[in-house]
Amino acid sequence: MDTDLHVLVSGGGIAGNAVALQLLRAGIRTTVVERASAPRPGGQAVDLRGPSREVAQRMGLIPGILTHRLDEQGMEYVDRRGRAYVRMPTEMFDGKGPVADIEITRGDLNQVLLDALTDTVGTLDYRYGEWIEAMTQDEGGVDVLFASGKRQRFGLVIGADGVHSATRRLAFGPEEQFSTYLGGYTSYFTVPAPAGIEPGWMSLHLKPRVAVGLRPDADPHTAKALVMLRVDADPALRGDVDAQQRLLRRMLADSGWLTPQILDAMVDAPDFYFDELARIDVPNLSAGRVALLGDAGYCGSPLSGMGTAMALVGAYLLAGELAAGPTDPVNALRRYETAVTPFLDKAKKLPGGGLAAMVQTTRLGSMLGRALARVMASRPLRPVMIKMMSGTDEYELPSYPADSAPTAR
Ligand SMILES: Cc1cc2nc3c(=O)[nH]c(=O)nc-3n(C[C@H](O)[C@H](O)[C@H](O)COP(=O)(O)OP(=O)(O)OC[C@H]3O[C@@H](n4cnc5c(N)ncnc54)[C@H](O)[C@@H]3O)c2cc1C
Repeated sequence: MDTDLHVLVSGGGIAGNAVALQLLRAGIRTTVVERASAPRPGGQAVDLRGPSREVAQRMGLIPGILTHRLDEQGMEYVDRRGRAYVRMPTEMFDGKGPVADIEITRGDLNQVLLDALTDTVGTLDYRYGEWIEAMTQDEGGVDVLFASGKRQRFGLVIGADGVHSATRRLAFGPEEQFSTYLGGYTSYFTVPAPAGIEPGWMSLHLKPRVAVGLRPDADPHTAKALVMLRVDADPALRGDVDAQQRLLRRMLADSGWLTPQILDAMVDAPDFYFDELARIDVPNLSAGRVALLGDAGYCGSPLSGMGTAMALVGAYLLAGELAAGPTDPVNALRRYETAVTPFLDKAKKLPGGGLAAMVQTTRLGSMLGRALARVMASRPLRPVMIKMMSGTDEYELPSYPADSAPTAR
């Protein structure tokens, strides 16, 4: 396709890289700016099910994904001595339960996308350590001033720069307008696999205000630690890694199980990630020639388990609509919003009760939480669990002509 449209994508996460890949395949000139100086590692397993799996299939990503696929056998709840009181093997829910049959770490999925970008013919300009400082738009395009001082004009800007999106702030308004705090924080980091953990099993330990767990990694020598804290919002924590780790140490103190090893390893973790659990709702996903994609525009938080699915499906639809009408990007953005909204309506729904149902504040509540975990794993309730985890399966994914024509080097 021959088009003069030049798209700027802000953010090289799953959403940004997926949309860049599809745009490039459609012959659309694309620039990606990623604030970090290199691809950001980190993140635990993300799953592909229903429409997101279909998107990965249509984008030709499945072979790459399968080479990094995690061998997850299931999930167990453990007490402070490490004894499992509920075990849910993957097959208990036909691969449609809390652990899906295709799981890959977020970092590996991002690498699969970056590899596909490298293999694709087209005009891709990828800049690390760069971000948008300011932008102004008129009827014909968007003038961007980058942090490096460079100025450039684009036909369209896509904000795929995550939950604290700068693109959203610049073109739509301050974060507070769109963000709802969901009652806690989450942290992920890679640790050496503690001796004695069962390979392939995700373990979760609950105590008042804390859920702490370990999830298998692609490398059997390491594991992905995950923590959820139920606390009031504290703006001082934003960006202050020392304060974040102090809070984790304080709240995980005396938690038993493998928490001492997890806390010891946290300090040296190469990919420490900590953020608030927040939901993002933006009434309109585009403002003229600026569009929002992924967490920047719609986020149910890691509690929804759907962040990557929304990023992939959104990227596929946005690129598909732009490829179908590159000479009228403003209308293409409206069609993108119409197409993605029914999917988001289902995907953003949190499992009943949100963080409060998962992490209780009292000892009695934690005991009830354990009882609930047992009930959810019981045979009569398995179909309910499968239905809860398959909420987006009925969404009908539109097809685009570019589907059948990915170009490879
Ligand atoms: C390091 C990391 C680990 C994560 N781990 C998990 C996890 O374990 N489980 C889970 O459910 N979710 C996790 N998430 C969130 C998950 O990746 C997203 O919900 C989902 O994949 C949608 O991705 P996204 O591309 O919209 O946003 P993100 O994954 O947040 O990607 C946004 C990208 O934009 C970049 N960026 C930020 N600001 C700017 C800027 N101003 N200019 C340019 N670039 C910018 C960021 O560095 C990042 O690479 C993680 C996110 C990150 C960044």
